[in-house]
Amino acid sequence: MKREKVTATNAKPRNRNHSMQTKCPYAKKCGGCKYQGTEYTKQLQIKTDEVKGHLSRFGKVHPVCKMEHPYHYRNKVHAVFHYNKGQIISGTYQEGSHKVVSVEECNIEDVKAAPIVATIRKLLKSFKIKIYNEDTGYGLFRHVLIRTGRTSGQIMVVLVVASPVFPSRKNFTKALLKEHPEITTVVMNINDRHTSMILGNREETLYGKGFIEDSLCDKVFRISPKSFYQVNPVQTEKLYRKAIALAGLTGSETVLDAYCGIGTIGIIAADAAKEVIGVELNKDAVRDARGNARRNGVKNISFYENDAGEFMRKLAIEGVAIDTVFMDPPRAGSSKMFMDAIFKLAPKKVVYVSCNPETMARDIAYMQKNGYRTNEFYPYDMFPHTGHVETVVLMSRTM
Ligand code: SAH
Repeated sequence: MKREKVTATNAKPRNRNHSMQTKCPYAKKCGGCKYQGTEYTKQLQIKTDEVKGHLSRFGKVHPVCKMEHPYHYRNKVHAVFHYNKGQIISGTYQEGSHKVVSVEECNIEDVKAAPIVATIRKLLKSFKIKIYNEDTGYGLFRHVLIRTGRTSGQIMVVLVVASPVFPSRKNFTKALLKEHPEITTVVMNINDRHTSMILGNREETLYGKGFIEDSLCDKVFRISPKSFYQVNPVQTEKLYRKAIALAGLTGSETVLDAYCGIGTIGIIAADAAKEVIGVELNKDAVRDARGNARRNGVKNISFYENDAGEFMRKLAIEGVAIDTVFMDPPRAGSSKMFMDAIFKLAPKKVVYVSCNPETMARDIAYMQKNGYRTNEFYPYDMFPHTGHVETVVLMSRTM
């Protein structure tokens, strides 16, 4: 699933007991965690009911698969910087506005992120770097993005600035690394646009390789600043294993991994398939996907940078034989063009992974009308305390 807002707490001492509930003092303003403060079992029930509400008319909905320790799971942390009464603060945008809420610690973010962000606040002050002002366009420093690899322990820090003229960047990076030798790569990203997008297009690696790695289901994945990667790797592994099990691959199938991101599902499934084709719109993700296939020695997979619908339409025109489709679209769901091409290609099985039960229901209704039957739905709690839920289902061709 795609992007939700960060949330925070400054509860002290920090809640290290993962079985405890700590109420987040920023919950209301941040708005990222809809269910912060709601007992975890109750959250699971609410999410199961929500998925049932949207999807039970198509088939049995299993209870949401819970996360064992539902805290500090987010491997991607975003902090926006701002002045408050002359002091540099960092945190998140207040829900529905561009007001910045100061956040020093967060219940769902990787604990390694907050101390790094705190050091950056301190360094910005000592280096006399001006914080960017969204209204006037004055100033340099905008955001920090931190991505962590759960299994590799690698940490990427992305410094988002409004202009490539960041004269102290070398010394700034040096000072940051001195306090945090655990950081494995630092990237400067230039975002000079008046936009709510965090990252701009240009990048310069200031230290390390410019990406981190993480492993999922025994495969290693390279993650660049802009590539999509699931934010909760613990739950992602469970979800992917289920998705691949539902496909029931035998080794003879040609598989399509649509909306493939950095190629995770396809690369994991490739061992059990004859051939895998991945399609993805984001250029950086496709580059990562190709590198990931090489890195894992997976030879029966190829990736295409294209709109999934457009690509499928072409496959249908060419009459390429596809046996199994994995589709994992963004929150808006899939497109009619994509599904119409499915009907033409007529794969026996379609495994649909969705981060939005509402658009999933819309798409499934359309698939059902056109000869696909749904089996059971398996929801996963990928984003504890937030309102989001991820669901996977197998659809099989009936005609
Ligand atoms: N399956 C991957 C990524 C899922 S997120 C994983 O589990 O990690 C959805 C992905 O769809 C993102 O990488 C996004 O860049 C991509 N995407 C969004 N719209 C698309 C489109 N129209 N065609 C192809 N890919 C698209």
